[in-house]
Amino acid sequence: MQFQNFIGNERLVQWLEHAITSEQLRHAYLFTGPQKIGKRTLALTFAQAIQCEQRQPNGDACGNCVACRKLEHGNHPDVLIFTLPKDKLSYSIDQIRELIEEASLKPTEGIRRIFIIPDADRLTLPAIQASLKILEEPPPSGLILLTCTSKDLLLPTVISRCQEVPLLPVASEILATALTRRDGITDEQANRLALLSSGRPGWAIEASEKPESLEEQRTLLHELMTLIGSGVTERITAAGKYAADKEQAKYIIELWLPWWHDVLLAANGAQSTVRHREDLTTIEAIAGHSNPQQIEAFVRAQVAALEALEQNGNSRLVFEIMLQAMP
Ligand SMILES: [Zn+2]
Repeated sequence: MQFQNFIGNERLVQWLEHAITSEQLRHAYLFTGPQKIGKRTLALTFAQAIQCEQRQPNGDACGNCVACRKLEHGNHPDVLIFTLPKDKLSYSIDQIRELIEEASLKPTEGIRRIFIIPDADRLTLPAIQASLKILEEPPPSGLILLTCTSKDLLLPTVISRCQEVPLLPVASEILATALTRRDGITDEQANRLALLSSGRPGWAIEASEKPESLEEQRTLLHELMTLIGSGVTERITAAGKYAADKEQAKYIIELWLPWWHDVLLAANGAQSTVRHREDLTTIEAIAGHSNPQQIEAFVRAQVAALEALEQNGNSRLVFEIMLQAMP
């Protein structure tokens, strides 16, 4: 992929292009930002621009040369992407040993030898310790690109060795315009997906390819709505049902939070900016029956719960505490 097709975060893209054209590449970069915002895609795009044989004057890849084509097919010999071993939650120390060995080799075809490690928080402590040396003193042709939802999940010794590339949510107008350029997406669908995505292009693209996932989410939201005004027992049962593990709990909260933002908007008289238009009547009814401070407190509780989950809090307990703040 070329930088010109990357959605959003234009300043970061220009800054990466400038690092390439001015030959001021650091030896390790850490791409941070929410899930599905484009961290891995941007890391790959960066790698492609670096390896491209006919790079454009602005630093973007040409998209046609042999290196570009190999990268787009995932078979460039000098761009190695790490994947988590099957059924494992973390990278193995052997993978890091392999990285250290591979990094000492000269590039076979490309300009640099690039290693991409997605979800760097999945590196175990021994793996991090083993990789510190390579992050500190990489061979001149080596480049390491890490991704992670938040740098707070990594050890300071890792962060200090990397240049952070912090991706921010994309404005919904920019995202909607980009989505309309894709096949089979109407303007209306693009606007809806952009609004629901919380600024995450990867999420919007995935949802556009699987319309059933949007339907599933609507069903889930309607289920969650029945919890409003429920008693303590129902809330504890709900925590057991919706927060069996960290990923599920995060998924639910990320889905629910924008909906409650809408309730907050409606409670403050800003109905015209509500994103979940199809639920406007319900949203207005909840806003009308609840105290605005309580709605705001629940929005804050959801943000706090997401942070607690990132810090590896017990998912069920975190969810239970969050639900206590629900109107
Ligand atoms: Zn090229």
